[in-house]
Amino acid sequence: MKVRKPGDGFDDGEATAPAMEEASLCEELNRVYEAVDLAAEALIRLHGPRLRCRRGCRACCIDGLTVFEVEAMYIQHRHARLLEEEEAHPEGACAFLSPEGDCRIHESRPYVCRTQGLPLRWIEEASEGEMVELRDICPINDPGPPVEELPERACWSIGPVEECLARLQGSRDDGRLRRIRLRSLFRHS
Ligand code: SF4
Repeated sequence: MKVRKPGDGFDDGEATAPAMEEASLCEELNRVYEAVDLAAEALIRLHGPRLRCRRGCRACCIDGLTVFEVEAMYIQHRHARLLEEEEAHPEGACAFLSPEGDCRIHESRPYVCRTQGLPLRWIEEASEGEMVELRDICPINDPGPPVEELPERACWSIGPVEECLARLQGSRDDGRLRRIRLRSLFRHS
């Protein structure tokens, strides 16, 4: 697995073909994130005070998160200095948490971090090929109407954005859909 080192490619001013390809993937990913944020904001408005996600709450910022390589590349592109010079948060929480408990890459955080805390729904294959819909929400946001009873439009559907990310990723790794540990992006991890 080749992981781009912080500082490679984008920062040296060379318009190489791989760098051009990565720049265009970053632009596409940016559009995906903008659409995700827009849809997530609509759900945040819909659920109002039920969602207690606040700056400083780090319940979702667990250690060991992995992302598609294309999302890792996006972070490397935008935070080369941080990855090169700063220390990863000690093991036990996400490497990108600051000592104060903030996300150091908030504006570039991966997809999974943009929808945490929302009521989630997804379809899974149960026994004998039967498809079932499952739901979940962060325990901190659980008090309120049961998530099982919410209309579909009031939940974040897991699947479509993942497919979109897989398509972007597949365009650069022959469909192998490699995933990268966030912690591994740091030079000092
Ligand atoms: S990238 Fe940021 S928001 Fe996502 S888990 Fe890490 S610290 Fe939390």
